[in-house]
Amino acid sequence: MTHAGAMARPELPRTMTAWETVGPDLGRVRPVERSVPAPGAGEVLVAVEACGVCRTDLHVTEGDLPEHRAHVVPGHEVVGTVAALGSGTSRFRLGDRVGVAWLRSTCGSCRWCRSGRENLCPRAQFTGWDADGGYADFTTVPEAYAYRLPDDVPAEQAAPLLCAGIIGYRALRRTGLPPGGRLGLYGFGASAHLTAQLALAQGAEVHVLTRGEEAQRLALELGAASAGPADGLPPVPLDASILFAPAGELVPVALAGLEQGGTLALAGIHLTDIPTLD
Ligand SMILES: [Zn+2]
Ligand SMILES: [Zn+2]
Repeated sequence: MTHAGAMARPELPRTMTAWETVGPDLGRVRPVERSVPAPGAGEVLVAVEACGVCRTDLHVTEGDLPEHRAHVVPGHEVVGTVAALGSGTSRFRLGDRVGVAWLRSTCGSCRWCRSGRENLCPRAQFTGWDADGGYADFTTVPEAYAYRLPDDVPAEQAAPLLCAGIIGYRALRRTGLPPGGRLGLYGFGASAHLTAQLALAQGAEVHVLTRGEEAQRLALELGAASAGPADGLPPVPLDASILFAPAGELVPVALAGLEQGGTLALAGIHLTDIPTLD
């Protein structure tokens, strides 16, 4: 392998600060001094610029999710630059800007992996749960699962896109919303407010149904056609809706707000029980 105009390898520190979980009993993270990890075969080392905080990081830290690795470093909305290349890598060069997300690796051979649905792979591994994530100065990632990012996007703006953004984008795709269609968003947290901007940019008419006047105000500021309470009906029947709120009792409500033939996508990982449907 040749490196035309290869840049001199910058000196890496030997140690770094990382924030690791201390166990479900205490339910918090603590700062520790650790060796800077060496990227394994097919992995790159990433110097972390910024890392978002996702609800799932709290579930890992507080033991709502079973422990996969003791004293794991959470964080899976990572923006950084490639600081070292593991053996057999070829996608990136030193200094390239990359993002690291929740999905760290998949088997590549199961029926879900082979049908473009690797997010459903039963043998998937996850950043900040199965392997150390971004609450550290450095982290590693298999290069196949790193996202190439533009240099000019502020790290703290790109970071939330790597989980909240991906989830919302995925849910929006799943709705099959027609061009210029009417989209309902139930709940208006991190993922929903990113999805709203995406749908609006694509020309959708967005209706936000959420409790909390502040969230409703933000929705209107971002360009939503309407904003009202989550348990009410939208002003017009909707072509598609996404339920972001982790409230199963909103499923019949959201279905009632749909136009005939409309689609409801459930974006939440955790959802309370869905009531019996007529
Ligand atoms: Zn997340
Ligand atoms: Zn698989």
